[in-house]
Amino acid sequence: MKKKIAIIGAGPGGLASAMLLLSMDYDVAIYEKEAAVGGRTGRFLLGDYIFDIGPTFLMLPQYMEEIFRLSGKNIHDYVEITPLDPLYKLRFADGTEFFPSPDMNKTLAEIKRAFPGEAENYLKLRHDEQYRFNRIEQCFKRPYDSFFDFLRPVFLEALPQMDIHNSLQGRLEKYFTNEKMRLAMTFQTKYIGMSPWRAPSAYSLISFIEHKWGIHHVTGGLNQLTLAMAKVVEEYGGKIHTSAKVKGILTRGKQATGIVLEDGREIDADYVIINADFSYAMSNFLKDRRKKYTDADLKRREYSCSTFMLYLGVNKQYNIPHHNLIFGEHFKAYMDEITMTRQPSPASLVYIHNPAVTDTTLAPKGKSPIYILVPVPNNKTSIDWDKLKPEFRRQVLDFVAANTEIKDIEQYIEEEKMITPQDWQRDFNVYNGAVFNLNHDLNQMFYFRPHNRSEELANCYIAGGGTHPGSGLPNLCISSVITAELLIRDDTGNHRWSFDNKIYL
Ligand SMILES: Cc1cc2nc3c(=O)[nH]c(=O)nc-3n(C[C@H](O)[C@H](O)[C@H](O)COP(=O)(O)OP(=O)(O)OC[C@H]3O[C@@H](n4cnc5c(N)ncnc54)[C@H](O)[C@@H]3O)c2cc1C
Repeated sequence: MKKKIAIIGAGPGGLASAMLLLSMDYDVAIYEKEAAVGGRTGRFLLGDYIFDIGPTFLMLPQYMEEIFRLSGKNIHDYVEITPLDPLYKLRFADGTEFFPSPDMNKTLAEIKRAFPGEAENYLKLRHDEQYRFNRIEQCFKRPYDSFFDFLRPVFLEALPQMDIHNSLQGRLEKYFTNEKMRLAMTFQTKYIGMSPWRAPSAYSLISFIEHKWGIHHVTGGLNQLTLAMAKVVEEYGGKIHTSAKVKGILTRGKQATGIVLEDGREIDADYVIINADFSYAMSNFLKDRRKKYTDADLKRREYSCSTFMLYLGVNKQYNIPHHNLIFGEHFKAYMDEITMTRQPSPASLVYIHNPAVTDTTLAPKGKSPIYILVPVPNNKTSIDWDKLKPEFRRQVLDFVAANTEIKDIEQYIEEEKMITPQDWQRDFNVYNGAVFNLNHDLNQMFYFRPHNRSEELANCYIAGGGTHPGSGLPNLCISSVITAELLIRDDTGNHRWSFDNKIYL
């Protein structure tokens, strides 16, 4: 008889784990509280417009390809993936603009134009980062169940490359004299909700990854990835129960034995995988059965920033690139406020997504779905977003009008949705509204991040941004393979996707 697995949440972490385990002949059922799959990588349909809820940058698409391949499928049978050139537009407060490209020669020409004197430094950084990437990547692709995992050769070899005493900005100061050039290679910590002045120097690999392998779009939006995953799950006979909110995990002694839904139904399972936000799941599903991740422990941990979101369906098309990042004056001070003193400001960094320039499937001809994201403090603050949001929205649109070609958007808005940190917490069950999960400080990474095999219960596993290796779609792919591998190993004693010497992804 097939072993039964219950997965809580149909985000990319839950769906990828389901695909892998179904391909290994397990009986998998997913329980998702929403009416649709995808979680933060889902979509909003507003009138004639389609919006990605969260992710718009697909990096390292080879990881996603690998999830499908390991599950016996070809991702290209399900979605169309297109590299973007330029990667994005960066606009600095003094008006300088920079358009990096996946083509190194084009990027070098751009650097010579925008940041004279830095091209040689860029080449040196690219060379050094390739060396670091080759070592550090392997460290992310294995579980950290034991402190002794730090003593494995793969980690010891990478350790000097992690430059652990340096922050990301500190590292880049060794390469570039121009502050804007440094920012162009460090602002990417926004993707994990951290300030470049605080993020570990290992995160310089994000800009390396972008510049080397590019940023990709999926026709129909990145939400199509989770829809494709759900299709694979169903093709394998897996069940996805939507509008099925989980209330708790059933246990016998220290072992997970199933789940209980909000409507009282109990579902037995041999194994449980938690994909819902880690800290939310610990405090809601395990209640007083926790030893490590108690309420007090979760409270004292550091969390990423949150985001303020505007999704605007507009009866107009703007001649701006697909991805636009606009830096406010005193970006550093604002980033510190977001992550330290916790004051929101629209003039920190504003990201504008304008996918209509690449993809005609997201809105009727001549119209466009404009998505605006501002990093803001998480709900550890006592900001009353329900009260603040109309004023903050106005400030954001004023900032956009002052710094971009989008000057008149108000009069073209046909559909609109706003999400604040309070909404992330209330509607998406994201602890503290910290959408990029637990912070990615070194003291919350690897062994120090919640493990993929639950530390609270036997037969229980975690897949998603709150566990190792962290937030973002490439990390989620790794997390899902590790989780599936550990479960299979515990169940059968066999390795499926090896960890030590062999790259499995
Ligand atoms: C605004 C934003 C922009 C982002 N941009 C990017 C990007 O460009 N590129 C990138 O790679 N990453 C990006 N990310 C990060 C990425 O979206 C996340 O890392 C990823 O979606 C998290 O996936 P997950 O599977 O861990 O969790 P989720 O996607 O949150 O999935 C968890 C699921 O659990 C469900 N759930 C919660 N509680 C319950 C319950 N009680 N019962 C049943 N189900 C429940 C939720 O409804 C959800 O479907 C972005 C995130 C945000 C928010």
